Amino acid sequence: MAGLPDLARYHRQMLLPGFGEGGQRKLLGSTALILGCGALGTVSANMLARAGVGHLVIIDRDFIELTNLQRQVLFDEEDVADAIPKAEAAKRKIARINSQIKVTAIIDDINFQNIGRFTAGADILIDGLDNFETRYLVNDCAVKSGIPYVYGGAVGTTGLAYTILPHTRNGDAFWETAPGGNRATPCLRCLFEEAPPPGESPTCDTAGVLGPAVSIVANFQVTEALKILTGNLDQVSPTLLNIDLWTNSLAQLNVSGIRNKVDCPCCKHRNFEYLEGKAGSRATTLCGSDTIQLTHRQLGEKLNLEEIARHLGRHGPLKVNEFMVRTKLFDNGREFELTLFADGRAIVKGTREPSVARGVYSKYVGN
Ligand SMILES: [Zn+2]
Repeated sequence: MAGLPDLARYHRQMLLPGFGEGGQRKLLGSTALILGCGALGTVSANMLARAGVGHLVIIDRDFIELTNLQRQVLFDEEDVADAIPKAEAAKRKIARINSQIKVTAIIDDINFQNIGRFTAGADILIDGLDNFETRYLVNDCAVKSGIPYVYGGAVGTTGLAYTILPHTRNGDAFWETAPGGNRATPCLRCLFEEAPPPGESPTCDTAGVLGPAVSIVANFQVTEALKILTGNLDQVSPTLLNIDLWTNSLAQLNVSGIRNKVDCPCCKHRNFEYLEGKAGSRATTLCGSDTIQLTHRQLGEKLNLEEIARHLGRHGPLKVNEFMVRTKLFDNGREFELTLFADGRAIVKGTREPSVARGVYSKYVGN
């Protein structure tokens, strides 16, 4: 490997067909946006970092809990004890895995007001999300801006994965003008027209989740990303991967004709309801037990965490670090755990009712 000191670590990858030094340099010059850093996101971030994607941007709103360690491969017990946000813990871990690449950690919610800032400059969007509302938002953004989006989801022992090379307004994206024909694929809303109603589909909280199922889905997503970023479009999967590891079922569903059968508001009519804030809510039920996230304040209006900590300290035991204040509250005979972030977001544990969460927030934090 003389003469290529910076590429030496990628030797086994560069031996592969479709890679070589050229493919590796393309990866090093690429930016991947990882949306959500839970089970899917940690596996994706880990593998993309080792593969040498030059810039990883990791967004997550949550902190690490003990029950995450079963499947969230970048985290350990120390991260749980220190109450480190997931995005920041992932960044620190990746710095020890591959110091040649850049990692940007963003501790924030993803919503219609801020997603444009995160996706600007991204070459690919990697799904590590836990809810369909945000996925539709990402899908809107991918189609509007013409950025490839690799969807992934896992719950119980099952998983789904699918690659969206969006149909663009002018049909001039590199996957639409590739030799061999237009390789654009149906978008997420072509496949799933409506999100499943809250509480009516299994979540990792109600149904559990098998670590290897998540890992397979995320590794499929990473492989698709590596194909796209190295320009190997002819190898990109046109099918929806559907697995159940427990029942040994592995299916690749042909969805290529679906865009002609549905009247997709997103990729056909370019009506971006989620991106324009016409669909979706401000109180989000998190994929965890009895937890509501509230987004209260406009971006840029920072909370004074020290002041809040002084105030909350009277109500219960307190944990404070540079990112958040957390306390246990007893209200009307019920116990809540309230976590406040400097950007005004609140996570209320102990209820599934947005109105109860809002009540706790306004009682102890104020509006
Ligand atoms: Zn569509």
